[in-house]
Amino acid sequence: NLYGPQRKNSKGVDLNIASQYQPLMDEMASFMDRQYHVKPLLGVEVAEDKSARQQVICPFDHNQVVGSVQWTTKEQTSQAIDTAWQAFPDWESTPVTERAACLRRLADLLESNMAELMTLCCREGGKLLTDGVDEIREAVDFCRYYALKAEELFGEPTALPGPTGESNHLIMGGKGVFVAISPWNFPVAIFCGQIAAAAVSGNSVLAKPAEQTSLIAHRVVKLMHQAGIPKEVVQLLPGDGPTVGSVLTSDPRITGVAFTGGTDTARAINRALAAREDAALPTLVAETGGLNAMIVDSTALPEQVVVDVIESAFQSAGQRCSALRVLYLQEDVADRIIAILKGAMAELRVGDPRELGTDVGPVIDAEAKENLDAHIETLKKADRLIAQTSLDPTLTSDGTFVAPTAFAIDSISDLKHEQFGPILHIVRYKAEEIDKVIETINATGYGLTFGVHSRNESFAESIAKKIRAGNVYINRNIIGAVVGVQPFGGQGLSGTGPKAGGPHYLLRFATEKTLTINT
Ligand code: GLU
Repeated sequence: NLYGPQRKNSKGVDLNIASQYQPLMDEMASFMDRQYHVKPLLGVEVAEDKSARQQVICPFDHNQVVGSVQWTTKEQTSQAIDTAWQAFPDWESTPVTERAACLRRLADLLESNMAELMTLCCREGGKLLTDGVDEIREAVDFCRYYALKAEELFGEPTALPGPTGESNHLIMGGKGVFVAISPWNFPVAIFCGQIAAAAVSGNSVLAKPAEQTSLIAHRVVKLMHQAGIPKEVVQLLPGDGPTVGSVLTSDPRITGVAFTGGTDTARAINRALAAREDAALPTLVAETGGLNAMIVDSTALPEQVVVDVIESAFQSAGQRCSALRVLYLQEDVADRIIAILKGAMAELRVGDPRELGTDVGPVIDAEAKENLDAHIETLKKADRLIAQTSLDPTLTSDGTFVAPTAFAIDSISDLKHEQFGPILHIVRYKAEEIDKVIETINATGYGLTFGVHSRNESFAESIAKKIRAGNVYINRNIIGAVVGVQPFGGQGLSGTGPKAGGPHYLLRFATEKTLTINT
């Protein structure tokens, strides 16, 4: 049974219920002013080095310093690889039940430390409260789900009776040392998911978090150690991507990399791993970008379409790999849907993520804002603007806010890159062009999420079949895949698979040994 009736997803906290909301807010208040000063978490204690310190600034209020992080040096990175290799055999031979128990304790610790983690997600990652709840809930789900899967996979060897007359068994083990390179947009969930999967499969892990969310990563790794994962088995190497990453990916001792981020970076990692002399052939598990589309036909329910489009394009300020980038509207309904969409976008509130009434928080940093604003300017100049939410002018000077914006374009092929923010593009199509539309979407080479809105079941299903995407959603939004029931991950330029939160994920972190005994 791949999913198991015994498995339950985390309930999280319902912020609409005052008795759940208020205690959480009260607890979060005690972390709002805290200063965090952190160092790499390696097998050995790291000496303080003020010159390697980077300041951490809050994305919604640049006057607010959250703390500082000491970046990992090249020498420390190499030492960490030594430590990880030394720790691997003992950890791999630790019974899987114990490794899984560490993840279950970690899940409990994530829940009991939710207020602090959510505060950090907000102050360091600019995340809304609702996104913070989802973030912790998903991390908890990853831990419990992978604990269960690991016990199934790494438990007793599988007996393989057959015609040879010998005793044949399949034994699962770890691969060695995995590098986990995680993104800032899910600094708890994806960060935990990668490490949990690699570690519970018996590997040592070198975690390189996104520069922007090192403090959150540090807090989570502390909880991993508290949960019983040895500090030599999971080490944290905060730092500059090219500096730390280049040491990690060029070292022949690295047996695998789990990466979530841009497609170009995944390619660079792949090249670096392939170029190593005398190294074992590595495993790369990459979850990369998308140019996600949704097709809406004339039978769709316009109000529902707009609710789902707003969530898909603008929730988390559009900073999800799964977010909607291109909405295809069938001509007959386009004007009506656009009219409702304009109304809904005018109602969106962009602002302080600590306030429950905020719909869209800041984007992660100044560089992200600059790129998104440049794209907005280009399309505005080309006279393609459909709608833009207005920004409160006092916001913009203190934080990196980008107004949710919708543009008309002619085809998804007009977009050369994923715009990782709250920008929606809309294409009108004629019913008879549908095959061409699908062909064009598939031709981008990306294939992460995809949506269809239609009350014509056979139309929706035929499109779902033809589209090359990892996660296809019919008559709903296209974000927020749930661990264990909606395994997440793309195809083509969007990733290598296997799917995070799916039954096959751990296999990529494992080796299979066949033991044959001539009895
Ligand atoms: N799993 C997330 C979702 O379904 C997206 C993950 C990502 O942005 O990398 O929305």
